[in-house]
Amino acid sequence: MRQPILSLRAAFPLLLCTAAFVSARTPQHPASPAPTRADILRGEYGRYRANNHLLFYHLDIRVDPDKKTIAGKNTIRFKMLQDDTRIQLDLFANLNVDKITMGAATLHYERELGAVFVDFPETLKTGHTYAIDFYYSGTPETISRFGGFTFSKDPAGRPWIYTACEGIGASLWWPNKDQWRDEVENMQLSVSIPNDLVDVSNGKFAGKTDLGDGYTRWDWHIHYPINNYDVSLNIGKYEHFADRLGGLPLDFYALPEDLEKARKQFAQAKGMIEAYQHYFGEYPFKKDGYKLIEVPYSGMEHQTAVTYGNHFANGYLERDWTGVGISPRFDFIIIHESGHEWFGNAVTAADVSDMWIHEGWTTYLECLYVEYRWGKEDGLKYTNGYQSKVRNQEPIIAPRGVNREPPQDMYFKGALFLNTLRSVVNDDKRWFALIHDVFQHFKYRNIMTEDMVAYFNQKTGMNLTPIFDEYLRHAALPVLELKFNDAEGTVSYRWKADEPAFAMPIRVGAKDNWQIVQPTIQWKTMKTALKKDDFAVATDLYFVNVSKE
Ligand SMILES: [Zn+2]
Repeated sequence: MRQPILSLRAAFPLLLCTAAFVSARTPQHPASPAPTRADILRGEYGRYRANNHLLFYHLDIRVDPDKKTIAGKNTIRFKMLQDDTRIQLDLFANLNVDKITMGAATLHYERELGAVFVDFPETLKTGHTYAIDFYYSGTPETISRFGGFTFSKDPAGRPWIYTACEGIGASLWWPNKDQWRDEVENMQLSVSIPNDLVDVSNGKFAGKTDLGDGYTRWDWHIHYPINNYDVSLNIGKYEHFADRLGGLPLDFYALPEDLEKARKQFAQAKGMIEAYQHYFGEYPFKKDGYKLIEVPYSGMEHQTAVTYGNHFANGYLERDWTGVGISPRFDFIIIHESGHEWFGNAVTAADVSDMWIHEGWTTYLECLYVEYRWGKEDGLKYTNGYQSKVRNQEPIIAPRGVNREPPQDMYFKGALFLNTLRSVVNDDKRWFALIHDVFQHFKYRNIMTEDMVAYFNQKTGMNLTPIFDEYLRHAALPVLELKFNDAEGTVSYRWKADEPAFAMPIRVGAKDNWQIVQPTIQWKTMKTALKKDDFAVATDLYFVNVSKE
């Protein structure tokens, strides 16, 4: 994640939310700007993207820290899914296209904003595989404090160069098919830099070669599908230390001055991986290993090359992130960003609209980490610490096909929704088997919310669609409306919800002796010995609002 918001991705914003719940229903679709032509070119899976499937990239570039330039090529191999004579790739308009070739032929292309439409002299045939070389050069943009491609200096004045481009898009610095639906099956990355620097990128280190001109090429092999935005360079005067977790190589990189702090803080990586392996199964990129790399921004989940800038301190930027005393026990960036190896990198949304699959799930993984380390009660406390950050102003799922990032509720409300779903399943053993299977079923795939809902329904035998829809496709929380009749000793109850079929069971009554009721949007009445003030609702297990009269 990034933006001024968390990407957590790159950067959680310092959110100062009030704890007050919104009691009135909020508009479902607050006015948002119409998508621009650039948004559609980037976001839409149009004909010239859908006509092919990516197989492989080899990005081979030279980075010049003095001139602040990059130059090189991306070899792109793809299979045609339709006969056609044109495909769409993407590269920011400020970078030069030097030439695009296929074999000995130089190809014609047309640029429109960030899109590059490549034309072929003869029809490319369905089912056939083709490879082109896309040569480019220039000075990529630095967007905001974290984003883009940054030529910087470390505190000792040495070059420090890094990429973080999830929101803005990888085509900010290299040519690719810049969307979320299609990923290459594997990739090579070759980065040539001055001899005295180190490049740490994704995948398994495959050696370095002195080029004899003051530059050394660092080669990395990525053995798994990878999001474009996860592809990253981290170039600096890094020192390296290593560890192992069973058969999994763990590699750590920090500036020389920070090495001792890094050795201490990065030790948390092992326990993090153990916790997530407990819930979801083996670390999904075993052949590539796991890396943690110091950077000057807060952090980002670059696949197998997670970047870290959390001051070598627990909490998030030295704050108690969910404000309930639990966040200071662990390093938020290590736990959150690495959680994306499971959800975001292995299981990936096919459109940025459904990015809660990355952020809601990974925020929930933090909660599971707390539960694994310190027990269910603390896990619940940490989870509900997120309630104060939820805004309920826009649906979590954003409009599709327009490259618009969803609101930050995808993080916190997303996690609270998954905690709610656990209570609906109402059987922890079954719940943990279910989320394990969800991960195993969808890993290395790019999916939409509908795929996940169908799988939940199939595995549970329940119709959870209205619950998913209520939480993900509407802004407001469901409200449990309660009306007490003291004379009759009854309480009437119903859901006020946007989904007509919303019928979520919920625990109500006495805190030490909950009873589960099955409200719908129609009133039901039951006997109760409890008065209005004593009649409780388990709002720590179900993220809902309650109204009593
Ligand atoms: Zn994240």
